[in-house]
Amino acid sequence: MDSFDTIIRNGAVLTPEGLQSLDLGLSGGKIAALLPRGEGVAAQTIDASGQHVLPGAIDIHFHIRAPAYPERGTVESETRAAAAGGITTLFEMPISKPCCNTAERVETRRAHFAEHAFINFGLYAAPGDLTDASVGAMAAAGIVAYKIFTTPAPEGRDDEFFGLSFPDEADQLRALKAIAKTGLPVVVHAESAQLLALGEVEVAELDLSNIDTHLASRPAICEAVAVAKLLTMNMEAGARLHIAHVTSALTVEVLRRFAGSSDFSAETCPHYLWRTHEDVRQAGVFAKINPPVRLQSDQDALWQAIADGIITHVTTDHAAFSHAEKLAGAGNMVTAPPGSPGSEVLVPAMLDAVARGRVSLAQAVALLSGNAAKRFNLPNKGRIAVGADADLMLVDLAGTTSIERDTLQTFARDVAQLYYGARFTGRVMRTIVGGASVYDGTIGGQPGWGRYTSPGSAPLAQPSRLSA
Ligand SMILES: [Zn+2]
Repeated sequence: MDSFDTIIRNGAVLTPEGLQSLDLGLSGGKIAALLPRGEGVAAQTIDASGQHVLPGAIDIHFHIRAPAYPERGTVESETRAAAAGGITTLFEMPISKPCCNTAERVETRRAHFAEHAFINFGLYAAPGDLTDASVGAMAAAGIVAYKIFTTPAPEGRDDEFFGLSFPDEADQLRALKAIAKTGLPVVVHAESAQLLALGEVEVAELDLSNIDTHLASRPAICEAVAVAKLLTMNMEAGARLHIAHVTSALTVEVLRRFAGSSDFSAETCPHYLWRTHEDVRQAGVFAKINPPVRLQSDQDALWQAIADGIITHVTTDHAAFSHAEKLAGAGNMVTAPPGSPGSEVLVPAMLDAVARGRVSLAQAVALLSGNAAKRFNLPNKGRIAVGADADLMLVDLAGTTSIERDTLQTFARDVAQLYYGARFTGRVMRTIVGGASVYDGTIGGQPGWGRYTSPGSAPLAQPSRLSA
């Protein structure tokens, strides 16, 4: 009999061909064999009876900000939390202090994450000064993609956003063209700086401590106009454009109308799919997120966009500020620090969508990992096949996940009010990274286990549109 490091027995394994009753042999951090039940021998056996074995989630939108701001969480704390949430690879956004906008800073962050991460990590960079030499050097340093904002740097945070914020559309076009030359994707936080400025003027007489004022200051048209402009520019620039955190029915309509016009994709997040502004009112400043969580009609449009294959990724946008920082900002919801933790919500929420029949299990897995592996060119991830990385999650589709302050691993558990009391059908039972269990109900693994994740050399076929 063949011998393996580990065999996962008795699970229902989701392969690209569908669900199969197989055992999985893991060796050397890879999936070494798909085995008929009971075959093979191994040093370690994991019993997955009653569970589904799925590719681990690839969260393409995560903010730890390390090595800056340890009071908001560290690489250790947040990659542990991600592991508890079924995430086996995260892509860290370039906001840090200073901004990750040169190859040298990419290397610094890479070294820091490599020392502390429990799970695999990819790094985004900001395109910085937009010179071919600097932009190309960051690609050579192995980043997964670039990130830009169409909004200005928040007050007092210029060094975190230098070479990342491009509120001027001439600079946006330059950035898209410079990045297109590298062949890597560019992810955009898209809200019109000019329309946001108008929104701020229009709410100036309102009660700034009321969370309703935040929503009023950032209407859906801010996002939709920025997206329409980017998609128009991209018809000329030819970048691999990815729109971050789509929130609104209006933006979904824009995405629909531009379908096929250039190479673009889009994501949304659990808070836009499971929460509305009514929930945000309950959680107050802790649910202040940019762009804002909107109305039921927007949420409905986002689900429809997923069903139609317009939105092909669901991400956490995990972004913690400290409890003290959130409270200190509560007097002005327009300027209060934006973001909410989502490390342990993403996968249970998508399993819940499966339980409710909103998406199939295969669609959920595509939204969580398969499409990310294709879009960001990670040929060894996002699928269960011989030779792929042994990055897996074992889930109980009938289990329950209850989100409360004390059930969360994230350092940011004190600012997760948007999800307190949430109950999802579906539970992450075990998370395996590189063949080793880093979570099985409690955190195992070790800092430094996670690998730096870089794109493969040859582009992969792009995600196909999901069927309804
Ligand atoms: Zn973000």
